[in-house]
Amino acid sequence: MMLVMTDLEALLHRAAQSAADHRAEVRERSVAAPGRAEDVRASFAVPLPEGPTPPERVVEELIAAAAAGLTGTTGPRYFGFVIGGSLPAATAADMLTTGWDQAAFNEALSPAAGAAERAAGTYLKDLLGLPATASVGFVTGAQAANNVGLAVGRHQVLAQAGWNVERDGLVGSPRIRVVTSEERHATVDRALRLLGLGTSCTVSVAADSNGSIDVGRLAAALAADPGTPTIVCLQAGNVNTGACDDFASAIPLAHEYDAWVHVDGAFGLWAAANPATAQLVRGVEQADSWGTDAHKWLNVPYDSGLALCADPHAHAATMSYTAAYLTGSDGAQLVLGDLTPESSRRARGFAVWAALHELGRTGVADLIERNCALARRFAAGLAAGGATIYNEVVLNQVLVGFDDLSRTDEIIEAVQRDGTCWLGGTTWRGRRLIRISVSNWSTTADDVDRSAAAILAVVAAQNK
Ligand SMILES: *Cc1c(COP(=O)(O)O)cnc(C)c1O
Repeated sequence: MMLVMTDLEALLHRAAQSAADHRAEVRERSVAAPGRAEDVRASFAVPLPEGPTPPERVVEELIAAAAAGLTGTTGPRYFGFVIGGSLPAATAADMLTTGWDQAAFNEALSPAAGAAERAAGTYLKDLLGLPATASVGFVTGAQAANNVGLAVGRHQVLAQAGWNVERDGLVGSPRIRVVTSEERHATVDRALRLLGLGTSCTVSVAADSNGSIDVGRLAAALAADPGTPTIVCLQAGNVNTGACDDFASAIPLAHEYDAWVHVDGAFGLWAAANPATAQLVRGVEQADSWGTDAHKWLNVPYDSGLALCADPHAHAATMSYTAAYLTGSDGAQLVLGDLTPESSRRARGFAVWAALHELGRTGVADLIERNCALARRFAAGLAAGGATIYNEVVLNQVLVGFDDLSRTDEIIEAVQRDGTCWLGGTTWRGRRLIRISVSNWSTTADDVDRSAAAILAVVAAQNK
């Protein structure tokens, strides 16, 4: 018979132990999920129990069902997408967040959740070189942050045109254009669809060879239609190349047209926190809103993103329940829920606060610097083995191809099967390439060398 154990303490210990075991194992086992997706689906898709199950048995069942389907994303040799592996203190803080179960809508619901977000927001603005008076909404990720920044932009440029979009909607409103890079992230288009602007409002500006917006063409695009309410959406950190737009030139230019400038800085905004990469995002503090992730380069557990706005009033006027909220001049009176699309939500500030304390200012800079250096090492190691590197490795992203690019996906699959590391593919400027992102705090030079050797061995075996 089942052990009868209704003790919550033991249950949480068991969960913590299993999570810690997973993290220890992913350092050495195959980085790809060890089982087949069909089998994992079958493990979960058992019939719904007719009645209750003891909690300790549920947890054991869950651990057993998930085991074959857990990827090694927290481990040091996962280089797919842009994936951080959550830091120890941030992971523990996130478990506490679950245990404490606070709703972060306002400080009446949870003084601690509110205080953590305010303090973490202050640290973040300092580290990223953004205005200390900016408002900070703790959202699910950069997608949500882009939704918020572009929504505030929509509010502001229509208000300038004498239109109250919160009250009157978009039917009959002045037309808005969104001038943005051809290299924008897909989340920008989704945000525009959700906001009712539609993707046809975009004016796509060509980018240079590494993916930064061409500022001359941006100037021409702005000048072509000068009276139209305009949002300019720029990018810090192209998901393929790591390239950042030239903010010092582009933002003042956009402001000459009274445009709202939003920056999608999901991971690239973190370049500001490291003196050696800060010049890549020079001038970014002049924007009107910024979106970034904590769950990517800050290595905080999912889901954790930040929507920042230079004008707290415009931020709250767009996002709050009453959508006409006005408070103290620095936004200090705004409640947390005035700045996010969610009402009740997870207290995301605890894990961000913990990550920033674990690393400190120099630790954040060092994390960014180390990952960038490892990305360069990866590129050099692969190039020495015959690969072509297709981007300028300015940050943590590397684009790789071997002789016959039509075989790129075969190579990727074989590398994933080999299990030493995990990486994915992308199409960049018409070429099918391998994409490597070095974003994890625990990745070492040895991890990179082992991974590069495994990739080269896979390619050599295929060429036999
Ligand atoms: C990852 C990414 C996003 C989306 O971030 P989520 O955290 O997945 O919502 C947006 N923009 C860029 C440039 C990204 O790299």
